[in-house]
Amino acid sequence: MLMKQIAALALFCSVLFTTQTFAESKTKPRVLTPVIVIHGGAGTILKKNMTPEQDAAYRDALTLALKTGHDILKKGGSSVDAVEAAIRTMEDSPLFNAGKGSVFTHEGRNELDASIMDGKNQTSGAVAGVTIVKNPISAARAVMEHSPHVLLIGKGAELFATRMGLEIVDPSYFWTERRWKELQKELLEENKDPHAELISGKPEKFGTVGAVALDRAGNLAAGTSTGGTSNKYFGRVGDSPIIGAGTYADKSCAISATGHGEDFIRFVVAHDIAALVEYKGLSIDRAANIVIHEKLKSAGGDGGVIALDSAGNFSMTFNTEGMYRGYYREGGSPRVMIYGDEK
Ligand code: ASP
Repeated sequence: MLMKQIAALALFCSVLFTTQTFAESKTKPRVLTPVIVIHGGAGTILKKNMTPEQDAAYRDALTLALKTGHDILKKGGSSVDAVEAAIRTMEDSPLFNAGKGSVFTHEGRNELDASIMDGKNQTSGAVAGVTIVKNPISAARAVMEHSPHVLLIGKGAELFATRMGLEIVDPSYFWTERRWKELQKELLEENKDPHAELISGKPEKFGTVGAVALDRAGNLAAGTSTGGTSNKYFGRVGDSPIIGAGTYADKSCAISATGHGEDFIRFVVAHDIAALVEYKGLSIDRAANIVIHEKLKSAGGDGGVIALDSAGNFSMTFNTEGMYRGYYREGGSPRVMIYGDEK
């Protein structure tokens, strides 16, 4: 009898001990290493199709974005600040399908989408179909911080951005020869059928930009910006400004996506990854891989994600030939990659 009582007491103490240890480790201040992870679009990106100059230009632009975000994190800045600043540099580059380098719609316009989310409190902001806002990611942030709404579109979003004092440009600012030629080629191909854009297949390449970051305070943020898909139908909005599809951040992870937006919306890709982490306890890499390589791929969806967890683990996974991508952890150095076989 006495032995039984002693055993019961020992069991009680061990449970208590485990519980206390758990509680203690929860209250212990975590030592966090800030990190930023970026992408510049996924798609048919093959080494044989790139000149050494193009390859170098992309690597320089990705490195600039990483350094810009990293500098902010290093000084103790917030993950939201780092994400916005990194994305702005890629929006200002003609290389990426966002901001300056945006693709054209079927009618020859540039209609830009962006979103941002603060994982600390799950506040978010987004804009869609804007044509005169130089940096749509900053407009998305303004919606998040200075409006009671999450998503503003078209003229309303432009009016709001103007009132917020953001930089406004003439729509011709977004004209680039490369993207114009891309559209002309696509128009020529579908010329046989004047309504082909209504039933057109998937675009071959993407170029959306995105960033996820973890700051010293342990807060995560995610942002995505895009010109959408080349030759897109009027009024078309992809996944990038849709919270949960192209962008998502909460206390446990931050995700930004790139790929065929319609599939990313249908599969609610960014939130699906977060849900696998939260409800199933999967690692961020496993969760991202299941969604991109199994769920999305089995339905024919192309693209990739960058996904970061609250401990600083991250995944850069894609089911296309390549994805412009990179990361910069404090104390390390910036690392950028383009092709599928780069580790
Ligand atoms: N996801 C973007 C869209 O569908 C395109 C891309 O990632 O390049 O609008």
